[in-house]
Amino acid sequence: SGATAADILELAEAQQVRFLRLQFTDILGVIKNVEIPTSQFRKALQGDIMFDGSSIAGFVRVEESDMLLAPDLSTFQIFPWGDPSARVGRLICDINMPDGTPFSGDPRGVLKRQLVRAAELGYVMNAGMEAEFFLFKPTEDGRPATHTHDVGGYFDLAPMDLGEDARRAIVDALEQMGFEVEASHHEVAHGQHEIDFRYADALRTADNIATFRFVVKQVARQFGLIASFMPKPVFGQNGSGMHTHQSLFRNNQNAFWDPSREWALSVTALHYIGGLLKHARAMTAVTNPLVNSYKRLVPGFEAPVNVAWSMRNRSPMIRVPERRGSGTRLELRTPDPAANPYLALTVMLAAGLDGLATEADWREPVNTNIWEMSYRERRRLRVDDLPQSLNEACDDLEKNEVICEALGEHITQQYLAAKRAEWNEYNQRVTEWELDRYLARY
Ligand code: GLU
Ligand code: MG
Ligand code: MG
Repeated sequence: SGATAADILELAEAQQVRFLRLQFTDILGVIKNVEIPTSQFRKALQGDIMFDGSSIAGFVRVEESDMLLAPDLSTFQIFPWGDPSARVGRLICDINMPDGTPFSGDPRGVLKRQLVRAAELGYVMNAGMEAEFFLFKPTEDGRPATHTHDVGGYFDLAPMDLGEDARRAIVDALEQMGFEVEASHHEVAHGQHEIDFRYADALRTADNIATFRFVVKQVARQFGLIASFMPKPVFGQNGSGMHTHQSLFRNNQNAFWDPSREWALSVTALHYIGGLLKHARAMTAVTNPLVNSYKRLVPGFEAPVNVAWSMRNRSPMIRVPERRGSGTRLELRTPDPAANPYLALTVMLAAGLDGLATEADWREPVNTNIWEMSYRERRRLRVDDLPQSLNEACDDLEKNEVICEALGEHITQQYLAAKRAEWNEYNQRVTEWELDRYLARY
């Protein structure tokens, strides 16, 4: 909406907002904020609040540590919890250099840059992300643990359940913050949930996911539960995905829809698919950012394992939901909810746009079960495997110019350094599995 600084000051006063959180997301996707009291609101709304960027992981070198927070006024919200006479509001911010130019390490800025590229070609990207999560009961001493609180199955609406109550309260809080929640349900695993809210343009959706993860965690805590967006918290159970529905619009028309063609998909949609397939392995380092992410991408748990697309099947990486007309879209099923939503949408869009620019080959849709195919059949259909570890994904990212360029040099370098370090730290651990398997036998 077109809120002005004056509107926000007036609203903040009327609603007794005493603190304002200036929010942004670091490279690793963690929400950060600088909180200011009423006396500083005016200054903040003018974009005059500085903070020390060198304290944020992967942000800046010490010699350029002062950063400006430039709030996006359309993101003003008041948190629906806490003392009503001393409310907390928030604004999502861009991060600028002291001279006002965008900071190249700001993930939101990187997504905006990619959206400008799309706009220059006449496209708007719309996206909807389905972030699954678990609700766990903490241990007696309050530490996170993977005890789930219910025994519900998929779409099980078992009443009088703490998990259900918490989810309902989360939906309430989201609606009070302007989200249009379309559905919420129990997922396949014990304690696993999904809340779907309406799609929007890509920037708004990334902002929404950042807010969503924060609200889910806050409200869960009010119920004595711990919400986790970790991709695969429990061995042998489904993990949590963040399936991303996406489409390009041109002149307010869905550019993926063409009723005159096979599948009613336009050539634009098919080239976009070709781009996602071509850059799939490199993108995965961003859409599946943790060591743990790769324990979700295994057969048997409704998560993708192969680089392929399908009109029907739910197992491949890209699915084309039945919907046509203005709802025509692709669903990329690889991403998980630990991903930085700004960077994840950046790499998907960059891959898709490269698909359009290079008229990428969309290969054949794979409508049969990939698991029953012979190796030869898989090669004939050019069905690749997704990376099997964070390290493998980083190797692919490092080699991929299109994706590295979309992220920019600063973020690519900082991101790869952080992820390689994470991998190395993990890789040196001796695990339970190894002890069980080897200690007595060798
Ligand atoms: N939890 C599954 C995943 O890891 C997805 C289940 C679904 O189709 O909603 O992606
Ligand atoms: Mg789901
Ligand atoms: Mg889905």
